[in-house]
Amino acid sequence: MIRRQDTIGKMHMPAQTNLFRCLTDNYGVLLHDPESGATTAIDAPDAGPIEAALANTGWRLTEILVTHHHGDHTAGIAALKQHHKCRVVAPRNEAQRIANVDETVGEGDKVRVGALEGRVIDTPGHTAGHISYFFPAEKLAFVGDTLFSIGCGRVIEGNPEMMWHSLLKLRNLPDDTRFYCGHEYTQANIRFANTIEPNNKALAARADEVAGLLAAGRPTIPATIGAEKAANPFLRADNAEVAQSLGLSAVPAWKVFAEIRERKNRF
Ligand SMILES: [Zn+2]
Repeated sequence: MIRRQDTIGKMHMPAQTNLFRCLTDNYGVLLHDPESGATTAIDAPDAGPIEAALANTGWRLTEILVTHHHGDHTAGIAALKQHHKCRVVAPRNEAQRIANVDETVGEGDKVRVGALEGRVIDTPGHTAGHISYFFPAEKLAFVGDTLFSIGCGRVIEGNPEMMWHSLLKLRNLPDDTRFYCGHEYTQANIRFANTIEPNNKALAARADEVAGLLAAGRPTIPATIGAEKAANPFLRADNAEVAQSLGLSAVPAWKVFAEIRERKNRF
């Protein structure tokens, strides 16, 4: 167990997470502060599996932190709020599309889960107001449908340039940040990534790791930002070799990103 130490030397109990499957291929995740007992659900795909995770852990739901308005991230909010009287925090730029919101947040805002302090990062592109949550002391990021392991979300409401800049903000987080995303898409993403960088050794290593995890019935997330930078083609659009292999030298990185995203859409 890793413990972090503040400036006066008091030891804090580390944050705990609980990850579980929801719906077809969504993930639900709880973040728990053992000192205060506060527990947040990151998004609420479906109330049932979240209630089951709360029952399994014995944790009490105090917040829901919403990343974006899509139904497979918000459908469980109403029932959970009614049952637990939890506080619902949602992205300011699309809060009007989400019911039962108590607080809206955007870039740079702080969110608290007991003693844990997170920072909001605007990550538009998948939806126009999508946000991610970064907890620096815990080195945890919750990125919704912006970044997936070896993939990224579809650009539905924004444009490729916007999405590329959102991905860069996540790529700039410390390498040892563990990120949780909204879906288990890793294996399909690896099949596509192999068409972009067939000789990438980090990608080959990740493919082996993922095959082992899935064979053991385990999730492929969280992954670290550092590992992802080496293997995820969507984070590598400014790599000269990637651009060259796509025949796109001397164009802005976001255009290389747009080409990779377009190829994935057709894959
Ligand atoms: Zn979505």
